[in-house]
Order: sequence, then structure tokens, then C-alpha cells
Amino acid sequence: MITVLGLCSIPSMGQQGPVDHVNVLMGTMSKFELSTGNTYPAIARPWGMNFWTPQTGKMGDGWTYTYTADKIRGFKQTHQPSPWMNDYGQFAIMPVGSPVFDQDSRASWFSHKAETATPYSYSVYLADHDISVELTPTERAAKFRITYSEPGHAYLVIDAFDNGSYVKVIPEENLVIGYTTKNTGGVPDNFRNWFVIRPDAKISYIATVSDGKVTGHPADETVEVEAGHAGAVIGFDTSSGLTVGLETASSFISADQALLNMEELGDGDFDRLCREGRDRWNEVLGRIEVEGDIDDIRTFYSCLYRSVLFPRDFSEINAAGERVHYSPYNGKVLPGYMFTDTGFWDTFRCLFPLLNLVYPDMGAKMQEGLVNAYLESGFLPEWASPGHRSCMIGNNSASVVADAFVKGLKGYDIETLWKAVTHGANAELEGTDAGRKGFEEYNRLGYIPCNTGIEKNVARTLEYAYNDWCIYTLGKRLGKPGKQLEQYRKNAMNYRNVYNPEFRLMCGRDDKGDFRSDFKGTDWSWDFCEGNSWHWSFCVFHDPAGLISLMGGEDSFNRMIDSTFVIPSFMGMESRGMIHEMREMQVMDMGQYAHGNQPIQHLVYLYDWSGQPWKTQMHVREIMDRLYSATPDGYCGDEDNGQTSAWYVFSALGFYPVCPGTDEYAIGSPLFRSATINLPDGKKIRIEAQGNSDSDIYIGDMEVNGRKYGKTYLTHKDLTAGAEISFSMSGTPDTGRGKKKSDRPYSFSTAE
Ligand code: CA
Repeated sequence: MITVLGLCSIPSMGQQGPVDHVNVLMGTMSKFELSTGNTYPAIARPWGMNFWTPQTGKMGDGWTYTYTADKIRGFKQTHQPSPWMNDYGQFAIMPVGSPVFDQDSRASWFSHKAETATPYSYSVYLADHDISVELTPTERAAKFRITYSEPGHAYLVIDAFDNGSYVKVIPEENLVIGYTTKNTGGVPDNFRNWFVIRPDAKISYIATVSDGKVTGHPADETVEVEAGHAGAVIGFDTSSGLTVGLETASSFISADQALLNMEELGDGDFDRLCREGRDRWNEVLGRIEVEGDIDDIRTFYSCLYRSVLFPRDFSEINAAGERVHYSPYNGKVLPGYMFTDTGFWDTFRCLFPLLNLVYPDMGAKMQEGLVNAYLESGFLPEWASPGHRSCMIGNNSASVVADAFVKGLKGYDIETLWKAVTHGANAELEGTDAGRKGFEEYNRLGYIPCNTGIEKNVARTLEYAYNDWCIYTLGKRLGKPGKQLEQYRKNAMNYRNVYNPEFRLMCGRDDKGDFRSDFKGTDWSWDFCEGNSWHWSFCVFHDPAGLISLMGGEDSFNRMIDSTFVIPSFMGMESRGMIHEMREMQVMDMGQYAHGNQPIQHLVYLYDWSGQPWKTQMHVREIMDRLYSATPDGYCGDEDNGQTSAWYVFSALGFYPVCPGTDEYAIGSPLFRSATINLPDGKKIRIEAQGNSDSDIYIGDMEVNGRKYGKTYLTHKDLTAGAEISFSMSGTPDTGRGKKKSDRPYSFSTAE
């Protein structure tokens, strides 16, 4: 007999959809030293509360699934945004052929050749146990279908992980209840992830595990274990068949709520759930349709999949049918939405703008979640997982709030968010990176000095100046009085205070006003953050024209960007201990251009402001072509919760939001022959690129709604009204394009 593993196999489901182009393993061939994405296969619904993943790493290892691993230890419910943040609310189940609990003893060899991974389902053959496992999730629940090979050898490990956990087996109800508290910070003391597991075969064996000690019990006895590291092994009566179905769900609120969440599975029919998951993914991914090269299509949808996972919807629906959430800020159960697991430092740049353009319906809910985060903690998060964390820099929640409002999102309490952004600009939340570290120095001096103990001072100054522009812009839109806005209007120009004309670069400066005498542009020094001055000096999103004049005018500015690509990548490597971002830049052979990390990701679009948009077109095509592919090593650094993926999505469409908070998108070079964005209100943005090829990458001509278009940017207003954009691509650059100042995108200093 031939056993077909490929669950929900595509042919039986009819026509191919966008989800069939997704490689969920893109970016999984990563390690501590070198990230090709630092992703794991997130088997989930879009923005789902829980993700599931095969677990190859040990309990607590951030590299939870790596492509090069040989063995699977379990199937883990995960909420991990990145290996650097690590996981929380995690537990694992593992089908085994004999009652063994230990994570090494139970691990089984597997092969990618006997593995089928899609966004909505996962199946694998566990060779050492001769067991096939299939799983398909909903937002808060999941269905497993396990096929054992031998009667009497059907067991299941339930591992609630260490850090304080609990498992109770109730044979009378054929039910397992438990909780896990394992986390890496950002949770109140009462944090629990309650889980329930209900097999459809009778439980015929029970052992509990308490900190490594395994104890057998009669199979009809209700038993519980609470320990540092609690777990259980249960066995199944397989007299009615070797295929065992498992329903599982969880809740951050209670065990009862977890049982309620399990009702998402309905009658539990595996194939139906799989089809529904597939339909949901096609609906979300299908907001954008593209035609072109098949490899590009695969990369595009793999990136779009990564763009609609985070921030996750942390809310649950209670017995009364109301949406509530466990607050990761104060531990209470409160009404409304909550979203989490994103670092705004990464995702303000283009992930939130992508949501605001293509999924504004979801974007508005996320803003509602931000209102709640502020009300529950007094601050907007900068890095939430699930509550405030201490990680990265900036006050970029201001950008996330301003961009949503400027892009026309509605239905949430913007006045509370106004209070939140103005409060966060002048305060910091001790022990976290919420608010602004160094705000007093910044407000007093106009920059954060390099000699008063606040590291990443240049990077912080640059981000705060942009964040001030965001607050100013939002305040103006809200009609706030000029007096309230003056601080932000003035401080938006503070980027000039760390510009050192001697080097034409941003540079550390002490509290007396003197620049660092030992400055080197290529040093990954502590004045910057995960980068050097070449990566940070262009972080003036809101005022490229102001930066151009600082750097000595257009020609000089263009030479500065050009230089980024030719200064040897080995320079600066000795300036601090190696971090993976340095290695990722070094090996790409693109000079100091470090696309594997965020600060520089907008750089090549700046030629749109400086009269050489053809260089934007040239570089974006090279970056898309060389640095992205739908393969396990398909990213050039950390994917970072949709940001690096959304860069590809935007760039492939032919435009990019350099300055979130404006309504503009800088034009690049469209990758596809044609693309259509289906907006939720029924309007369409159609993008055609005639004559597009690997060598015809330059914009020859461009029309918007049938009229010749010479600007180097598109507006959100024009796009969301429904637009027909037509490019004629050419093999030779049009060096006359974008020369006129009036054709260039927004800059603060020339707009005021
Ligand atoms: Ca990064």
C-alpha cells in the first residue's frame, strides 16, 4: 500500500492559489553566527494568537527550528518573534512509540523529503518512531492527526517546559489540562498559558513527569503534577484504529477559556480545517496578485506570508461573545484588542505602512490595541513580546501611530494616542525601552551626547528627530494648537546637531559640543546601533532635502550614497566584537551596504530626492535579485517580524514608503509584468510594467490613470482612490527623470 503523506494535497483542492507559492522554510537555515532570516516555519492563521512549529532545538533554544537539524523533539506551540527575543507561553507535544519523556531520548530523525510545510498545515514522518504527524491550526486552537504504526505503541508526550508548569490528566473526560509559564520577560507575575488537549482515542496509559522524575499511574485515575518542569506521557487504546486525532487549544486567561477557544475547531474534521486555513491564507495573500517569473512569485508570496504573521492578535472571545485580552502589562483581563510580538524599531519602516495600505482593516485594530497598551501601562510599546521589553532604541511608536492616521485609518481613539505619543516623548519607562532614554539631554542640548553614559546616542538622536517630526505631523492633522507642537517642529531638525561637516557624516558629540576626535565612519561604535555611521547617516526620513544640503548638495550627496557600495566591507570589522549583522554585511560583496539590518534599508530610494532615480531603480533590482530567494537561506539577515519581507513586497510592486507619516511612496523599479492590489473597499491598484526583464530594469516612461507621470513618488491618496499605473521599462537609464525639484518627494525643510 502507498501511504500519501502530503496532507490537504494541492491537486485534491483544485486550483493553485497564492498560498501554494509560499515556502515557509525561507530563512530557516540560520545560526547564531549568520542569519539567513532567523525564521522558523510558523504554521498559523494570519496574525493568529498561536503559531505551531516543529521543534528541532532544545527547550529554551531560540533557534527553535533549523533547516540543517536532523531531529525533531516535539511540536511546539510558539509565540516567538525572533531567536533574540526568544519564546513565551510555549509547550510541546510529541507522538512517540514508547513511553519516553526526555527531550533527547524522544527526538526522532526526520527528512525534508518526508516533510510538507505550508502556512496552514505541516506534516512529517518521525522515522525513529515510525509515526506520521499532521497538524493544522486555527487562531487559538489546532488539530493534530497522528498515525501510529503498531498497536500498543501509541504514546504522546506533553511537555509543559520548565520555569514553573502544571499538567493534569483527567481520564474520565479524556482530557489533559495544563499551563506553562516559560517566558523571557515582558509578563506580569500571574502570567500563564493554559492549554487543553483532547484525544479522540481512549487514554489507556498515564505517567506524570516532575522535574525529570517519571511516575506511572492507573489509567483511570485523575492525576496532576505541578513542578518546575511538569509533563506527562499518555498512551492510547488503538483498538478502533491507529490514527489518533488530537484537539488542542490554549488561553492566556484560563483553562475554561482554553476549552472555549477549542470550539474554533468545530466538529474537528481535519480536512475541513485544513481547507479553511488554506482559504483564509489565499484570501489574505490574494489581496495582491502578481504575474511574472515563477521564482519571483515564490519569493514574493513567501515574503508576503511573513508580513502578515506579526503583530499577533493576542485577544480572545469570552463566553458572552465579547473580545477580551489578558493584559501583558497589568495581568488583568480587559475588553478589546491587544496585539504583540513586534519591535517597532524594525517594523515602523515599511511593515506597518504595508498593513496600512493593503490591510487597513487589520491596521485599525492594531491601533486599538495600542490605545489599550497605553491605558494599561502608561506607555506605548517600542518592543512588545508580549509586554514591554528592553531591546533596541528609538521612540518609533510615534511613527506607527502617525502613519496609520495619515493613511486614513479610522475607528479608534486617536486622542488617547495623541496623549500617548506626547507623553512617551518626554518620559521613559524604567527597565524597558518604552518612551525615550536620554530625553532630558535630548530636549536640553538637541542631541544625546556621547560622554554622559547613554550609548547609541547618535542613532537615538536621529530617530528622535524623525519621531518628533511624526508627532508634529500628527498634531497638525489633529488641529492641535501651535504652542503644543512647537517643541516637536523645532526638534525635528535635531538631526543636524550630530552632523560633522568634516566627514560629511553623523558623528558622536560630547556635551560641550565637540565631535569625537577618533571618529571613523566605518566603526561599529557604541554611538550607533548595530551599524556604523555609513548606515546611520542617511536616517533622516522626513527631510532628505535638508540632509542633501547638509552633505554639500546633490552631487556630493549622490557620491556619498555611491560610496556606501564601494567602501570595502572589511573596514570597521575590528572596531567591536563581531555581531552577526557585521558578518552578513561583510559576505554580501556590496561594500558597506548592509541590507541585512534595518537602518539602511531605505537608502537606495533616496536617489529619488537627489536627481538620480535611475540609481534607485538599478540598486533595488539588484537587491531583490541577489539578496532574496524562496529558499532556506533566502534572506540576507534577520527577517524581523515582517520588516525585511515587506521591503521586498513594496519594492517588487515598484514603490516604497521611505518616510512613514507622509502619504508618499518613493518609486523604484517594479519587478513583475503586472501586479494588482485588491483594496478591501473593492478598489484596485493596477501596476503594469511593459517590456520588463532582468536587463530592462529602468523606467523609460510612466503613466498614472492614462496621464504621463514624471514624479519620483506616488501618493497614498492617488493609490487608494484606485489607480492604473503603467511603466515602460528600458535597458538604459533615463538620466533626465526626476531632475525637476517639483517632481521629488516630500522633505520637511522645503515643505515648510
Ligand atoms: Ca535587524
